[in-house]
Amino acid sequence: MHEGLNERRSLPAVSKVLDALAPIDLPRPVIVDAVRRRLTVLRKIGTNIPFEELVHSLEVELEQHRRSRLQIVVNATGVVLHTNLGRAPLHPEIAQEMAFAASTYGNVELDLARGTRGSRASYLEHHLALLCGAEAATVVNNCAAALVLMVKHFVSPGQEVLISRGELIQIGGGFRIGEIIAATGARLREVGSTNQTYLEDYEAGIDSNTALILTVHRSNFFMEGFVDSPALAPLAELARRKKLPLIADLGSGALAKFAEISPNPEPTPQEALKCGADLVCFSGDKLFGGPQAGIIAGRSRMIKALKREPVFRALRCDKLRLVALQGTVDLHLRDQSAQVPALQLLQISKDELRARAAVLFDRLRGLPLRVSVGRGSGKPGGGTLPRALIPSITLDIVPEFGTLETFSETLRAHAPPIIGYVSSGSYKLDLRTVFPFQDDILVDAIRSACSTGANNVET
Ligand SMILES: *Cc1c(COP(=O)(O)O)cnc(C)c1O
Repeated sequence: MHEGLNERRSLPAVSKVLDALAPIDLPRPVIVDAVRRRLTVLRKIGTNIPFEELVHSLEVELEQHRRSRLQIVVNATGVVLHTNLGRAPLHPEIAQEMAFAASTYGNVELDLARGTRGSRASYLEHHLALLCGAEAATVVNNCAAALVLMVKHFVSPGQEVLISRGELIQIGGGFRIGEIIAATGARLREVGSTNQTYLEDYEAGIDSNTALILTVHRSNFFMEGFVDSPALAPLAELARRKKLPLIADLGSGALAKFAEISPNPEPTPQEALKCGADLVCFSGDKLFGGPQAGIIAGRSRMIKALKREPVFRALRCDKLRLVALQGTVDLHLRDQSAQVPALQLLQISKDELRARAAVLFDRLRGLPLRVSVGRGSGKPGGGTLPRALIPSITLDIVPEFGTLETFSETLRAHAPPIIGYVSSGSYKLDLRTVFPFQDDILVDAIRSACSTGANNVET
């Protein structure tokens, strides 16, 4: 009686809560910290929740936290370069090479012929330059970092970067070209209007403060109608005449035009350099199909100078990324682009997807679900090819228990999590982005979602 009263008045000891928690695969200090923080909050607000309830809610919180650990998921969204899901998947052999490199030493900065200190990434830089049709190339952390490095190098604080108003774009979650340039201390000199920028606008914008001309590919949107901007070649001619460097931020790193899937071809590095851009930059993990990286290619003396910038050291890639990049570059150079997973996924035929859907459909018979094979539209994603629609095949599921949202949640709680989407009254799994070896995982996940769901309905 006395003890009961005490228990209701005071909070339980940390150790008592720890003993009561179900085992969970998390480092002990994380669990202890969560318990302590919860008890502190309860002490402050003075709530007296039943012990069982406290333990249960901590278990839920810890489980949610455990699931936030970076892990593989099955991408059934149909978006190939999904930024939230890590953009381009790598070739399994490249991933294997990375695993070896990770667990041992490598000739990262060692010249094996001379036995002396070598330059980092020389093999990769050589091959990248060849691939881009450039004199030289180098890599940094990502394309945003490439922009920062180049603007910092060419533009002293207070000097200006000339850019068209039609190209001051925002990419993904809050990354704006204009803001990143401003963050380097450079000033923006905007020319033209949103939809119309002429060569004369650039020319009129140039004065003694101008240090750089930048063109940016409007990666994730498309303008139609009364739209004009100068081609790269005349802009390059102007830059040369005014003795200004011209940089083209290409964004996607497409090495081909992707004309089969998009009415708006992507600019390629070879083309931009041929048109006279001094340097180009693009992402490693968009249509290039490699790991996160920012690739810079162009004039040799400029690349050399960029690599001497103190900030270059802060933006460099680690050995794992270098391994992944050299593997991807070599696939492109060996004419094996078709084996780059992101490009492979974009090209799978609808018939192949339909055949897989039919097999899955059969395997899901007898479950408390209405399943049909539907049509989806896959997307390149990652802010590339905004007008491309790739016909795809979906598995459309309506469970006979619970809601679509709960079903979707249960599949996200599966190990590995399944990421589909709800649309037009069913839960959809787009097979374009699901690797064939993951079809078994889909079936397992759906089966166990059915048993969880059906049990929940009974109780
Ligand atoms: C995606 C994109 C970037 C940013 O690339 P990250 O590699 O994600 O930093 C910069 N510029 C353009 C034009 C892009 O499309």
